[in-house]
Amino acid sequence: MMQLAERLSRISEPQTIKMAKLSRELKAQGIDIVDLSIGEPDFDTPVHIRDAAKKAIDDGYTHYTPVAGYADLKQAVTYKLKRDNGLDYTPDQIVVSTGAKQSLANAVLAIINPGDEVIIPTPYWVTYSEQVKLCQGVVVFVPCGIENNYKITPAQLEAAITPKTRMFMFSSPCNPTGSVYSSAELEALAAVFAKHPQIFILSDEIYEYINYVAPHASIASFGDLKNRTIIINGLSKGFAMTGWRLGYLAAPLEVAKACDKIQSQFTSATCSISQRAAVTALNGDLTTAHAMVTEFKRRRAFIYEALKNIRGLKVNNPDGAFYMFPDISAFFGKSYEGTVVNNADDLCMYLLHQANVSTVTGAAFGQPNCIRLSYATSMEKLEEGARRLKTWLEKLQ
Ligand code: PMP
Repeated sequence: MMQLAERLSRISEPQTIKMAKLSRELKAQGIDIVDLSIGEPDFDTPVHIRDAAKKAIDDGYTHYTPVAGYADLKQAVTYKLKRDNGLDYTPDQIVVSTGAKQSLANAVLAIINPGDEVIIPTPYWVTYSEQVKLCQGVVVFVPCGIENNYKITPAQLEAAITPKTRMFMFSSPCNPTGSVYSSAELEALAAVFAKHPQIFILSDEIYEYINYVAPHASIASFGDLKNRTIIINGLSKGFAMTGWRLGYLAAPLEVAKACDKIQSQFTSATCSISQRAAVTALNGDLTTAHAMVTEFKRRRAFIYEALKNIRGLKVNNPDGAFYMFPDISAFFGKSYEGTVVNNADDLCMYLLHQANVSTVTGAAFGQPNCIRLSYATSMEKLEEGARRLKTWLEKLQ
């Protein structure tokens, strides 16, 4: 067998990407799959942003850029952070990257030493644990139940902290649960962090605009936490720009400089054309983002009602993102014509092959009693998906 690096044995390929691959293969075979596994808006990038990119090509923005991004793009990010979050940053505290995923990697690589503990409230986004493991950090999962909308409480946080805790990683709005931390909840967590100044907070705010309740709150706004919070954000979700690969982080100056150094040895800067488009997106108004959110809200109302009416599913009504995360453990041990469902992975495979609906196992996000359904698809597909889910879940006896 070929000898590869030991670090590969520490990580796995994201189940989200695996499931997307599988659905694509089945679709290519002509099978009519309703894809509820996708983690991206089904909308196209707004026209004014696409136009800015076309102009950038014609204007000759085709060369290497500074590693952390064009100066006016970093300026646009600081403008956005002030406008949307009331936070003051200087452009040298911003590092633009090839997607929020790379920004996360930059921060984890810049901060985590082998043996450092990283607290991750569970369910969590698949990539967090794997990036920590790549750095030989120790992941401390804190299970959070549906009864508290999958959110960590201050008491749970306090109990998980040890002298070795170096970082806390979370997303709000959350992938996979859609949960949103309120200002009061963030303030209560901030009060715990105030007692532990050695902990960095990695706040993934990529779903910021896809929020159906209160205005978005960033944990960096509370107490002195801005001095040790790394805000991760990007254009993938809010501006429907997943393919453009444009993310950024805002951090204390020393951390930003460290991330710039790390990125300089991996990818240099992200695409010059995407950066020009991002300047237009961030400096522009949020009309298109709001229109997208209105549509997501309509779909959420539909899918929530539909799932609630399927016997055996335990659902909550998430406040943000575009995911439902029902508890499906009532189906464990049931079967249909010899196919037995023992866990969430089995249920996803059953739904894929029998109902032709693709979903993602909750095990991928550290919660093996659940599955994740994305409603970032047309109303027509959602209606068909819901119909198939009801039919095939009710066949399990
Ligand atoms: N964080 C979360 C919580 C996500 O869901 C995603 C995308 N699925 C990312 C980060 C990565 O986003 P990007 O496309 O900007 O790399």
